[in-house]
Parts: sequence; C-alpha cells; structure tokens
Amino acid sequence: MTLALPYIVIHKGREKSLARKHPWLFASAVAKVSSEPIPPGSTVAVRSAEGICLGYGAYNAKSQIRVRMWTFSAEEMVDADFVRNRVKRAVSLRSTLPSSRSGNSQRLIFSESDGLPGVILDRFGSHLVLQLTTAGAFHWRDVIIQAVIAETGCASLEERSDSDTNHLEGLDDWKGLRFGSLPTDGTEVQEHGLLFKVRSENSQKTGFYLDQRDNRLLTRSIASGKRVLDCFCFTGGFAVNALKGGATHVTLVDSSADALAAASENMAANGFMEDQVTSYCGNAFELLRRERDANRQYDLVILDPPKFAPTTSQVEKAARAYKDINMQGIKCLAPGGLLMTYSCSGGVSLPLFQKIVADAALDAGKELQIIRYLHQAEDHPIHLAFPESEYLKGLLCQAID
Ligand code: SAH
Repeated sequence: MTLALPYIVIHKGREKSLARKHPWLFASAVAKVSSEPIPPGSTVAVRSAEGICLGYGAYNAKSQIRVRMWTFSAEEMVDADFVRNRVKRAVSLRSTLPSSRSGNSQRLIFSESDGLPGVILDRFGSHLVLQLTTAGAFHWRDVIIQAVIAETGCASLEERSDSDTNHLEGLDDWKGLRFGSLPTDGTEVQEHGLLFKVRSENSQKTGFYLDQRDNRLLTRSIASGKRVLDCFCFTGGFAVNALKGGATHVTLVDSSADALAAASENMAANGFMEDQVTSYCGNAFELLRRERDANRQYDLVILDPPKFAPTTSQVEKAARAYKDINMQGIKCLAPGGLLMTYSCSGGVSLPLFQKIVADAALDAGKELQIIRYLHQAEDHPIHLAFPESEYLKGLLCQAID
C-alpha cells in the first residue's frame, strides 16, 4: 500500500505538529514530493526527513494547506471503508448529544473535528445538506454521499459545495440535489419548540446557523420585557426566541431582503404579530449610527455579523470592523442594557475579541461587565488537537452605568 502511493517528505522538525495530531501540513513544511503532478485530493504518504511514515493525508498542490491528514497511523489504510467508518462514527456520536433531542436538526459532521477535513453535514429534519470544501473531500465525494445516505436514512440530500473558500483550494463550485427530491417549500426546522423554515438551495451556507442554537435559547431566557435589536438577523433566529421569551418588541436588521422575508415568515409561523416587529433592510453599520443619532435605545442588542476575517491575514481589518460595530451597538444600549456580541472569524481569538469589545466600550464611553462567555453549539465540537475548530465566540455583557 505504502509503495503504491505517492509520498511527500517534510522538512526536519516539521513532524512536531503531526506528533500532536494537528491535521494540517503547510506548503512550507514540504521538502520533497515523490512525483508531480499528484492529482488534487489524492492520498499521499507523509514521511519524515528520516523516511519514517507518519500517516496519510489528502494532497492539494493548489492549497497553502498542502496536505490534510486522514490518519496519523502508518498502518491504517485510507480507502472507501475508512471514509465510511469516519462518517458512521460522526453520525453515531451526534446521536448521543442533547442536541439530538432538542429538535430535528443537527450538524452531523464537522470537518477536522470528526476526522473528515472539508466535510460538513447538516440535518434539517429528513433533509440533509452536505458541504465539501477540500480537494480530499471532493476526491471521496461519492463514497461520502453513499455513506451519509446509508447512515442517516435521510429522505433527501443536497450538496452545497459553493463555499467562498473554494478559490483558495482550486475547487469548482458545485450545488444541487444528490438524492431524493427537494422539499417543495423548504424544510421545517424545530428548535427548542420553535419553528424555522430552511430553504437551503439559494440560502447562505447550509441554510440555517445551527451553531447558535444554545445562544438563541439563552436569548429567550433573558429577553422578558425587553426592547431587542437583532443586527445581522438572517432568518430571525435570535429575534423569534426573544419574542418567545417575552420581549416587548424586536427590531431586525439585515442586508438581505430574502433573509428578512424569511424572518417575517418565521415570526408568523410561531404566532408573533407584525406589530411586535420592525425590519430594516440595509447596512447594519449605517443603521446603528442612525439609531444612535435618533437617540433610540435598546435593552438587548445582538450583534452576530458574518465572518469579517475569513483568513488570518485579514485579522487587522476585521478587528476594526468588529470594534466599530460593537461601539455603535454599545451606544444604543439603554441603562443596564445587555449586549450579546459574536465573532465567527477563526482568526480572531477570544482574548482578541474581548479586547476589541473592551476598546469599543471605552470609545462608547460606557462601562460593561461580561456575564457569560458564549460558544458554538456542542454538535460543532472542538477537537483538542485542532484549536482552529473553535471559531464562534461570544460575550454577553451588561452595561453598569
Ligand atoms: N444571527 C443569525 C445568523 C447571522 S449570519 C442566526 O442566528 O441565524 C450573518 C447575516 O449578516 C447574514 O444574514 C447576512 O445577510 C447579514 N449581513 C452581512 N453583512 C451585513 C451588513 N453589512 N449589514 C447588515 N447585515 C449584513
């Protein structure tokens, strides 16, 4: 097996991260490639400078992450059974988590955390949405699809491999139905007793942000009697929960008219009235300034912006954007008001994010205390050997002046 495979040799010293089971090998770590060209996604053996086999991974000459490891064992064979077993393991682990009982939707596969770099699988009822983001995942596409269908017994499977990182990996966008038939009018997601319509085919990402499930529930528990501003609301996940928790009014802000239309549908599906909701379609940065100038105040401000820093090189620019939006949000807080603020940028660590929010509070001239640290939901597990899998961080803060 080893002999038949192409291999790469890494520079001396670069085996350290592999010994810690970190699954990425960057281009700079590669000293030699057995034979070029190696088709993208092919399995290669990874050898130390001394010629010892350290495991196998998926090779991609077009990516800065040259190899993504499948296994750190020289004995394990990376074949269809291997991939099927990884899919099976992930799906079976999810069935033990509380999120398997809190509704009908779950992230079933979360990429490196499940030993399947570049494979994301979300379940919305009996409809599944698969997203492949690496050459290795593309290479095993058919096996993955068959395994997913077999392990989940889903009614339909849609692929949304049109991620905004495809150009960094040299991958072509692909989206469409892979199995069954598309639900005619979207899928109904139930989450902690609330209903949300998910239309994955034209939506953002897989169609619904499951990573915020617990934080949406938290919102429900703190919203009673509050005027809520839900910025970057998408399909209204936080706002619907706030109303369920007794908020007096919610204001929704998103730049996507489609998202706002879906949000108002979700409001209605859960029995909330139009007069409890104000929607603004536009740029949240401008809108917050306008709210501030009009002296409008809110008791709970939620800021859940998109990834401002998709890669680490954009962190500085992202930090400025996070600071600006948080400063504007803080200025709109009523005395004693709550700020729930997030960053889903992998490149922005929690300490950095906390510092950014601290700077924003200083500039806004307000004193805030953190009352809760917030994270991605448990079906987006963080692999201990791969800290990059922790991407969503949030702070719940209270204004004390
Ligand atoms: N809170 C949501 C997820 C937010 S995703 C939930 O729980 O489901 C980020 C949202 O920000 C998207 O809906 C996107 O349309 C919106 N968006 C992106 N840039 C924006 C901007 N400058 N102003 C307002 N909304 C924006």
